[in-house]
Amino acid sequence: MNGISSYEWDDWKWQLANSLKGINGLKTLLNLDTDIDTDRCDAIDGLKEVIKRYPFKVSPYYASLCRLYGLNFKNPIFKQIVPSLNEISYPPHPLSSKDPFREGELSPVPSLIHRYSDRALLLATAQCASYCRHCNRKRHWIEPSVPTLLNRRYREMAMSYLAKNKAIREVILSGGDPFMLSTESIKRILSMIRAIRHIEVIRIGTRAPVTMPMRVTKGLVAMLKKFRPVWINTHFNHPLEITREATIAIDRLLCSGLPVSNQAVLLKGVNNSYEVLKGLFTGLQAIGVRPYYLFHCDPVMGADHFRTTIKEGIDIMDRLWGKIGGLCMPFYVFDLPDAEGKAILSQNHIISRENGYIYLKGMSGNVVKWEEKGHKQATKK
Ligand code: SF4
Repeated sequence: MNGISSYEWDDWKWQLANSLKGINGLKTLLNLDTDIDTDRCDAIDGLKEVIKRYPFKVSPYYASLCRLYGLNFKNPIFKQIVPSLNEISYPPHPLSSKDPFREGELSPVPSLIHRYSDRALLLATAQCASYCRHCNRKRHWIEPSVPTLLNRRYREMAMSYLAKNKAIREVILSGGDPFMLSTESIKRILSMIRAIRHIEVIRIGTRAPVTMPMRVTKGLVAMLKKFRPVWINTHFNHPLEITREATIAIDRLLCSGLPVSNQAVLLKGVNNSYEVLKGLFTGLQAIGVRPYYLFHCDPVMGADHFRTTIKEGIDIMDRLWGKIGGLCMPFYVFDLPDAEGKAILSQNHIISRENGYIYLKGMSGNVVKWEEKGHKQATKK
């Protein structure tokens, strides 16, 4: 950016303070004249309505990445951050809702979601470096008081709940993006969690390596390292996001003994193709990130237009199977509405099971017959 020193650019606090926000931030990103009469500009006028319901925000870093690939919806970065009229006009799926996973109901104390018996999720903050248009918690963007761990009372209530529930062995720090908190604040939360002896593992969900990689400072990773085992889950959706800056951020985490995995979302017009997902999964493996989940786009209000068919997702994953290494292959899953948990979506490689034999589809399409109980031989059907 013109007139910005590299010192400023590399400072995550500068990035946060200079985020593009609201209608003026959007106009800056789109290179629209700020003097434009927005009341006479249909497109912007419509987007003002979208932004009222689902705000716009992007970090200067991610905005600059977006500009590299064109200011239009063919650009996968643009599509992830620029509001679309579809968010308020696309016919919603009958099961779509603001809170499809009933997180509100599964919250025994503010800022804590307890959905699976051995895991609990903590809402560290509602802030993010950029607002992703497909976000499944976009309802939080306009809630005036999302209960988060920033509130001291909620923090203490959450920790007391964790301490009392001894079946919980893993805590997921989520949000928003926990890395938007100061290193000191994250340290305070991690210290409180680590003081609970039955919590074995801490997981942190963050998109900072993608949308603001300069947040992954040496100071942050040095602090995180003290609380290992800490697993980092990040959220790359497209190979263009695997930049030099992102690679440095990932490398810092890995070199500090913090394993990194990735949860991508299958998004129409962003990554719903064999070539793009192949590039994403292999590109992630090449920088040491394990592709963990590919989510079918959640049934969340304001994101229905991003959803592909399940068939399309399964077909792409089936084509990838055998073409890229198993370490590159995430589970393709659908987080079911009504808090029903995740369903694995895959082409069934078991064709049939008859008379003690199992018939399995091989990579070339041939069917292999195998004894269920024994291991004598494999013959072609
Ligand atoms: S970073 Fe995560 S929580 Fe924040 S807007 Fe994007 S998907 Fe949602």
